[in-house]
Amino acid sequence: MMFASSAVRTASRRVVASSTRRQFSSATAKTASSRSAAPMIAAAGLATAAFVVQQSKDKTYNLFGGGDAVQKAVADAEDKFGNYWPRNIMILFGPPGAGKGTHGPKIEDMLGIPQLSTGDMLRAAVANKTEVGQKAEAIMKAGGLVSDDIVVGIIRDRIQEADCKIGFILDGFPRTQKQAKALDAMLAKEGACVTKVIELQVPDSVLEERICGRWIHKNTGRSYHVKYAPPKSMKKDGSEKPIESTMLDDETGEPLMQRKDDTAAALVKRLQGYHGETVPILAHYRPHGIVRTVNANQKMDGVWGEILAALGRGGD
Ligand code: ADP
Ligand code: AMP
Repeated sequence: MMFASSAVRTASRRVVASSTRRQFSSATAKTASSRSAAPMIAAAGLATAAFVVQQSKDKTYNLFGGGDAVQKAVADAEDKFGNYWPRNIMILFGPPGAGKGTHGPKIEDMLGIPQLSTGDMLRAAVANKTEVGQKAEAIMKAGGLVSDDIVVGIIRDRIQEADCKIGFILDGFPRTQKQAKALDAMLAKEGACVTKVIELQVPDSVLEERICGRWIHKNTGRSYHVKYAPPKSMKKDGSEKPIESTMLDDETGEPLMQRKDDTAAALVKRLQGYHGETVPILAHYRPHGIVRTVNANQKMDGVWGEILAALGRGGD
């Protein structure tokens, strides 16, 4: 069954390969069961409609008579979503530190589709010392962009996995016009296209504090901030600096770390890349009527409220 198994696959994928982002954020961990259940309930609703329509045919479901019948109804509905409905393909767009990793997991929870972070995938490749990782390591540390061919190849493979069958959320991709065109072309092969671009808009001036205060849990990508989202265990020294040994993941108690590229110097280069190469992508998608802009320079709850509105079908 696609919906139920996709949540399981997403979970195991992240633990094993850390290939996508932040599976076990506290919110995600708490809602893991409801997350897998929500799409199933939706599917069951659809199946109920199918039951009404099809009850006179041979394909009938006894929805009140037992688990197997309901499971079969859900499986049939899932099959229809996965094969005949267009995929929901979103881009979570914004500069480093905008909040993509903070809010992406909540969209995952809500919609039951995975967040695919090319940054997380590349960091996993670096950690595993793969050929791609070896090519990318120095570029990433300095805040440069890895070659289009590498990241396009990574995404091309990833979106063919079963958990992407009803859709996915792209985080950190596309970052150049060439990547956007490659994405459009690969989607066009199945008659699909990007369905929404959510732009998290933040002035550069607030990003250094966000980036330099960010700590992450390496295995999951779960992110914290010394001021805005501190781990429960955090203690500060006499000069108000966090004591490293007290920076522990809320869920696992494992040590947190700071990314090598989360420095003021690398941020300058990352922002140059963002404004020079990435922002023009918005002009590429805007004529499609799918770009929604969110004010991400406010408290996290306010940002989330605007994202929820942007996910709906209303205009900008
Ligand atoms: P991105 O994935 O876009 O690079 P993150 O979601 O990791 O950004 O956020 C960067 C840092 O800023 C994290 O430490 C996060 O806790 C913090 N942060 C995210 N959104 C906000 C916000 N609205 N206000 C203050 N800090 C935030
Ligand atoms: P992120 O985690 O999105 O901040 O990405 C971290 C780093 O990975 C970036 O600074 C780039 O070096 C590299 N990277 C991630 N995604 C891409 C991409 N789509 N194109 C080129 N480089 C990327």
